[in-house]
Amino acid sequence: MFNLVIFGGPGSGKGTQSDLLIEEYGLFHISTGAVLRDQISRGTELGKIADSFISGGNLIPDDLMVSILGKVLDENADKIDKGVIFDGFPRTIEQAKSLTTLLGERNMKLNTVIGLEVDDAELTKRLIKRGQESGRSDDNAETIKKRLEVYHKQTSPLRDYYIGEGVYAAIEGNGTIADIFADIKVAVEKAK
Ligand code: AMP
Repeated sequence: MFNLVIFGGPGSGKGTQSDLLIEEYGLFHISTGAVLRDQISRGTELGKIADSFISGGNLIPDDLMVSILGKVLDENADKIDKGVIFDGFPRTIEQAKSLTTLLGERNMKLNTVIGLEVDDAELTKRLIKRGQESGRSDDNAETIKKRLEVYHKQTSPLRDYYIGEGVYAAIEGNGTIADIFADIKVAVEKAK
């Protein structure tokens, strides 16, 4: 089993590279953003709560997010034999600590953190383009600015945290999709 976190700012290519990782390694993909958007589109209670945070560019509270992730892992226990790609989780140090616990409780462990390193100007450009194509409610100029602020304040400290844990693989994320994926594969093979 091989479990990885794909890490990086909003628009850094986590979703795109996850699709390639699924194809290459048959891993089970958990995008917490996609889980939340699904709840919103189904109009559930959880979706209503999530919507108020997401549309403002803020993070969903840690305890709620951790309980959602635990549920997703348990509901899909039969599909995660090869391992999991955690996409969009953790986003805080608190969540990172909870991830260790959640995995340990299930006899799993984190093998590597793939950090897609992309500068803010490029992230903004990509998110504005995605907003025009996808219609995602949080891909508009004002919310993008807020999401980048939140990323730098609450999420980017995870880079140092995972460097300290000895599992962080830095990937230059400004190149082509294929070049970036080639670098990711090298990092995955090394961590195996
Ligand atoms: P994403 O699709 O990963 O860009 O996530 C979209 C939005 O969902 C984020 O801006 C947050 O509001 C929310 N979200 C997704 N994952 C998390 C998480 N791990 N913790 C808190 N909020 C999250």
